[in-house]
Amino acid sequence: MSHLFFDTRDWKFILHDQLDLDALLATKPYREFDRETCDGVFEQAVRFAVDRMAAVNGPGDREGCRAENGRVVTPACFEPVWKEVREGGWIAPTRDPEFGGMGLPFTVTAGVAEAFSAAAQAFYMYAGLTSGAAHLIETFGNADLKKRFVAKMYGGEWGGTMCLTEPQAGSAVGDLTTSATPVDGEDGAYLIEGTKIFISGGDASFYGNVVHLVLARRKGDPAGTKGISLFAVPRLDVGPDGKAGAFNNVSVTRIEEKMGIHGSATCQMAFGGDGPCRGYLVGEPCSGLPYMFQMMNEARIMCGVQGIALANAAFQQAVRYAAERKQGPDLENLGGGSVEIIRHPDVRRNLLFMKAWAEGTRALLGQSAWWADMAAACEDAELAAKYQDLLELVTPVIKAYSTDKGFRVTELGIQIFGGYGYTQEYPLEQYMRDAKIASLYEGTNGIQALDLVGRKMRMKGGAVFMTYVMELASFVEANKDVPGLGGVLEKLGRAQQALGEVAFWMQSNGRANVKLAMLQATPFLELLGDIMNGHMLTQQAIIATKKLIAMRGSAEVERAAREDDAELAFLAGKIDTARFFATEVLAFAGAKARAMTSGDTAALDMVF
Ligand SMILES: Cc1cc2nc3c(=O)[nH]c(=O)nc-3n(C[C@H](O)[C@H](O)[C@H](O)COP(=O)(O)OP(=O)(O)OC[C@H]3O[C@@H](n4cnc5c(N)ncnc54)[C@H](O)[C@@H]3O)c2cc1C
Repeated sequence: MSHLFFDTRDWKFILHDQLDLDALLATKPYREFDRETCDGVFEQAVRFAVDRMAAVNGPGDREGCRAENGRVVTPACFEPVWKEVREGGWIAPTRDPEFGGMGLPFTVTAGVAEAFSAAAQAFYMYAGLTSGAAHLIETFGNADLKKRFVAKMYGGEWGGTMCLTEPQAGSAVGDLTTSATPVDGEDGAYLIEGTKIFISGGDASFYGNVVHLVLARRKGDPAGTKGISLFAVPRLDVGPDGKAGAFNNVSVTRIEEKMGIHGSATCQMAFGGDGPCRGYLVGEPCSGLPYMFQMMNEARIMCGVQGIALANAAFQQAVRYAAERKQGPDLENLGGGSVEIIRHPDVRRNLLFMKAWAEGTRALLGQSAWWADMAAACEDAELAAKYQDLLELVTPVIKAYSTDKGFRVTELGIQIFGGYGYTQEYPLEQYMRDAKIASLYEGTNGIQALDLVGRKMRMKGGAVFMTYVMELASFVEANKDVPGLGGVLEKLGRAQQALGEVAFWMQSNGRANVKLAMLQATPFLELLGDIMNGHMLTQQAIIATKKLIAMRGSAEVERAAREDDAELAFLAGKIDTARFFATEVLAFAGAKARAMTSGDTAALDMVF
């Protein structure tokens, strides 16, 4: 049986009730899609994820990858499923049909990505990285490079990677030493030399060729991030005819033994170690890092998808297990024998934390995807710019908050399973091992917090952040009288005020004492994440309340009715989730803000 129980109902609620899908489908690029087509694509993808992709998760983890003669051997079960992924067009569903994509909005495929990542994160990474790498060439490469590489990568015949990290250049990418020397008489061709480490999907048994998107420095270009250029470096060189030819001296010299995602090969790559290695300049020289940011921003959202995927998968597993596993009597009937653990308050509390983070971050992902699509597709330039700003503001939150909470939710899932959760009999332990990496790569979560506080908060002189805060305040004011939810909106409103106070404090202290201010970068990201998560859950609760009132005249649904009717249970559950999150998380925002602005310097004073 598949390990994956995917909640299609929740995604459809986000798509059809929470987001303005009509506005998106009215834009020029998406006019040919309607709600039915979107649902059809989504359902087909979820079936594929549950029935086919999920089957490689456990076996891929157990078999892992190995390096052999400069290449990687991936788990045997991956190859046939990769073929099906290619046939289904699932590597690049959002990309331009001219290059083999389907041109679908990310708002629809975000749920697809979640399903695929939940099914088999390590396996699906090959597709995500290939699509992102090809998109870099599609966006910034010249016509010749696009013709040579893009369609074969979107089609999954060739793989793609992003090669930034070197032993001495991790978070500090500007310290890289990989070099690029022009090939005499060949415009745009360079000889690449250097070693990259930790390269995901540096090779795979099912790749006919691999195109590495490598950051390197041309001799004489400035030190640091300003002198970095981007190169497309194929494993087998590719001529103007687009055919893969001779070996290009790109080798896998080792792969990492690691905690999770064993099916994803994490490679040390040697470029030009045994002979000349040709790379092709993508776009303008010394623009490599800004270009790479396109892929990194996409990958940061995809990290969020990974956290959200495993959080939701863990929740679905835990809720089923808790409904079956019997231990201990009901507190109100101590002599009555063992009952299902889902009846114990402590287990219910853990389950609701799991649900609130899993579904809140999922809705935030849906919202971000909608902003991304609208930023690109909306014809009103002012609105498009606003959506782009909001997307940029939310990106570090999606990356860091969703992955930290994703990891926490998988851990709570293990707690609910008890000792069985720690064993390989259930998929929870793999979920937790696989989830951890998403808080580390694509810029650690600590670096995301610095990005939020140091750059995103300051965008347009702080106006972008203020737009979000003011819209949140208006949302609270407009909905404060929704029946049954007054307390939730009040707590959300107070949390928003606390956030504003911390932002003001950080701004006031940032110049005079930058370390004191930055000490609060991660707590600030967490507070903003709590508020965004709470905002999403509250929106859902309001929609559910209105729907229930329209259906039954009241939003109160008695237990028996919920047990009989899954839709009533779903809607009433949205209200309970928002209430729980407001009480258990948002209500503490004021205390957190007081601690954050207290100016305590213990962590700076400490001599370790
Ligand atoms: C499984 C796996 C897959 C990966 N895939 C890829 C890939 O495909 N391509 C690729 O290029 N790289 C990849 N990486 C590399 C990954 O992006 C880096 O590991 C990550 O950027 C962190 O770099 P580092 O490991 O050198 O840590 P360091 O940079 O040494 O950081 C160590 C700690 O210090 C903190 N820190 C560092 N600098 C600062 C600062 N200025 N301020 C505050 N805190 C700081 C960090 O937050 C972290 O907690 C992968 C890594 C792994 C483990």
